[in-house]
Amino acid sequence: SKMKAGLIWFNGQMVPQEEAKVSVLTHALHYGTSVFEGIRAYETSRGPAIFRLQEHTERFFHSAKVMMFELPFSPEQINQAIQEVVRANGYKSCYIRPLAWMGAHTLGVNPLPNNPAEVMIAAWEWGTYLGEEAVRKGARLITSSWARFPANVMPGKAKVGGNYVNSALARVEAQQAGADEALLLDKEGFVAEGSGENIFFFRNGVLYAVEHSVNLMGITRDSIITIARDLGYEVREVRATRDQLYMADEVFMVGTAAEVTPVSYLDHRAIGTGRAGEHTMKIRAAYMDVVHGKNPKYQAWLTYVQ
Ligand code: PMP
Repeated sequence: SKMKAGLIWFNGQMVPQEEAKVSVLTHALHYGTSVFEGIRAYETSRGPAIFRLQEHTERFFHSAKVMMFELPFSPEQINQAIQEVVRANGYKSCYIRPLAWMGAHTLGVNPLPNNPAEVMIAAWEWGTYLGEEAVRKGARLITSSWARFPANVMPGKAKVGGNYVNSALARVEAQQAGADEALLLDKEGFVAEGSGENIFFFRNGVLYAVEHSVNLMGITRDSIITIARDLGYEVREVRATRDQLYMADEVFMVGTAAEVTPVSYLDHRAIGTGRAGEHTMKIRAAYMDVVHGKNPKYQAWLTYVQ
């Protein structure tokens, strides 16, 4: 099941997937020196629309800034290239992956002699990240034995390739334990995030968004806070513990890939009824309407690919 990404934007040229190749001496392959984004385009009545393109491109450039990568393209060029990848492949909906990396100039640990970064943008058709069943019945989570790294260990607010070794270890651990996804705690033992999702929970009708702390500042998280407030929910950003999640009425995860995924079990404890939560599914439905262009109030979040 080799993935198919069709035409890839590769350092400024649109090329077939087979031609978008790099050297085995690529710095990023050895040391994780890459930055990336994960974006979705959704089918709407006016063709595909990219969700929150500006915010994703901004975070891409911020991640590059943290790593001191020079990108040989402007944010506007990247915005245009992202749209071009969706257009050229004729996708109705897709997942889009911009990536910038340190190339094959030199393999000393210092990445900067490899500046400027190389850049590619690929897109492929990708359904629900954690599976249809997780969306319907709720995902089963376990708390990972791998902690989320402190802010003075890794730049968790930058989407850096190397950061995802931590996510990969947690995800494999969860899968080996028969769970759908991992919950990572920070160094102090407070709830951080999933391997690729931010965490929310409901208690007595109030929606709690787990605070940023060491986490990625998720764009879906930001969208959900806005949408939930517009639905009339009181939303509070809090530092939370894992036992607070055990006692919650509902827990859910959000991310570009995972969208809004209910959590039914955490560490073998049923969350609420042990099924997808009612408020969670209401918020999920509202989010899906927004991304599909069905809510006029949020048109500014959509970039239509003409
Ligand atoms: N945390 C991590 C570690 C992630 O990889 C992601 C996915 N990008 C998220 C949270 C959610 O972020 P977003 O909503 O911007 O996709």
